[in-house]
Amino acid sequence: MNREVSLSRMNNGSGLHEKRNPDNQDVTMNLIHDEIKLDYGNVLLVPGTRTNVTSRKLVNLNCRISFNHNEKTVYEGIPIMAANMDGVGSFAMADALIRHRIFTCLAKMHSEENLIRFFSEDSLRRDYCAITVGLRHMDREKFKSVNQNAGPIKFACLDVANGHTQRFVSFLEEFRSEFPEVVIIAGNVVTPEQTEILVKAGADLVKIGIGGGSVCETRIKTGVGYPQFSAVVECGHAAREAGAHIVADGGCTCPGDVAKALAAGSAFVMLGGMFAGHKEGGGRVVTRRFNTGEITDKGKAILQENKYVEFYGMSSQIANNKHFDGLQPWKTSEGREVLLPFKPSIDETVQDMLGGLRSACTYLGAGNLQDLPQAAKFVQCHDTHNRVFEDSPISDHSISSMLV
Ligand code: 5GP
Repeated sequence: MNREVSLSRMNNGSGLHEKRNPDNQDVTMNLIHDEIKLDYGNVLLVPGTRTNVTSRKLVNLNCRISFNHNEKTVYEGIPIMAANMDGVGSFAMADALIRHRIFTCLAKMHSEENLIRFFSEDSLRRDYCAITVGLRHMDREKFKSVNQNAGPIKFACLDVANGHTQRFVSFLEEFRSEFPEVVIIAGNVVTPEQTEILVKAGADLVKIGIGGGSVCETRIKTGVGYPQFSAVVECGHAAREAGAHIVADGGCTCPGDVAKALAAGSAFVMLGGMFAGHKEGGGRVVTRRFNTGEITDKGKAILQENKYVEFYGMSSQIANNKHFDGLQPWKTSEGREVLLPFKPSIDETVQDMLGGLRSACTYLGAGNLQDLPQAAKFVQCHDTHNRVFEDSPISDHSISSMLV
């Protein structure tokens, strides 16, 4: 802090630049990318021309995905992953999603005993589930034990908030050499350079996304992040050049965003918020009563009782309280806690999502998801959809649950 840094902003017509003067030396540095980077909400997919996929029924959503470091394992299923978050990456969620051939990254906090039991009971779970491993020595030991006792485990998700560190790269290299047969999903990062580094260090799938998640506060607390759609496009390109794939992690708010992520070239899409709020996630269910403001014929207030599920970011205060000894004094919470309307089954959500993906394929003329990127063209836009009736207090099919 004893350096004298003078900043003068100037706009040279192609973007903002900073002129710095550290140690009294003139150094002009290009600090800001000129190109505007995009989120899913800034683009739309353009329909194809005279496409010949005539029905959504004809679209095949199952993919065969092979991995650069591991020829033995081929993923056959829908390229969607449930996130390794509390309330999402549960055993019940994994089993429910396997029925749809969707993958789950199990939450990090499952015990060794429960993981051994889970993987021993049904070998199909090894094709559709990854064990999440953090930097802690105990996580690696847990993986080793489950691999020995209920393995071989096919997928590991090496997950840290910031995959841009040398410590993470070294950890990945060590894990790769200790478990050469495992398909490694590693992240999170948002730059092509770091994507390439992770592929070289042993990742088969690089997880892309910092700060865009539904219950994430990293951008607010740190100012760090990268617009997710651009990160997916740029890092996806880097991963493919290096012979690997990416997982677009976070920021999808609707089935259309999932279609955009896959069309932009990500091999998988990871979802937290879109899979949260369901019974299978195992989150705490709370009931709240509201005065609707309406009255019965007899003048009594009509109350409405709604069920919600607690959902929170894995760097939130509540997650730190649950899984660690609270928030350490040098940290801030980088996740928020929300209540989501309780949904009794994930099946309807999955049908809605897969129906959207099939429809996206028919608009673009892609017979299957793997043809989607070749068929895709995006247009930048200011607004993606019409919001006119979004907040209307309308036809409530939960009317039967009203308490009089
Ligand atoms: P979503 O699908 O909910 O938009 O995003 C899910 C992703 O958000 C997760 O897979 C993970 O990468 C990220 N995430 C989960 N919890 C937190 C958190 O507390 N802070 C941050 N920065 N990211 C989180």
